[in-house]
Amino acid sequence: MRRVSRNDMIFMAVLVVIAAAVFVFFSATGKESGAYVLVTIDGETYGTYSLKTEQEIPITQDGVTTNVLVIRDGFADMTEADCPDKLCVHQRAISKNNETIVCLPNRVVVQVMGSEESGFDSIAK
Ligand SMILES: [Zn+2]
Repeated sequence: MRRVSRNDMIFMAVLVVIAAAVFVFFSATGKESGAYVLVTIDGETYGTYSLKTEQEIPITQDGVTTNVLVIRDGFADMTEADCPDKLCVHQRAISKNNETIVCLPNRVVVQVMGSEESGFDSIAK
């Protein structure tokens, strides 16, 4: 039984266009000079963020913002954290491939990734 309506077709076409746009966006931003950061919590991917886009990223766990990562001038810097030691806040801003900021108490790791290829290598378990 086929029940593909005209609206379904439009919906699928829109999805394909969005997927293509996202793919083009990520392949264009990912290949140039390094640069995005991968944020993981307890080994699980939280998100990836381009170092070219100035942004403030609240890292939330269980509805609580535990760390705030700021990306500015191509550097990623942990500006706020609720951990007791604040070691992550005191770490230098990072910009080069494989540099990391680690917040041990919150199990948050921020790592600079370069090309997609090397990125997949280093996240492989
Ligand atoms: Zn910390």
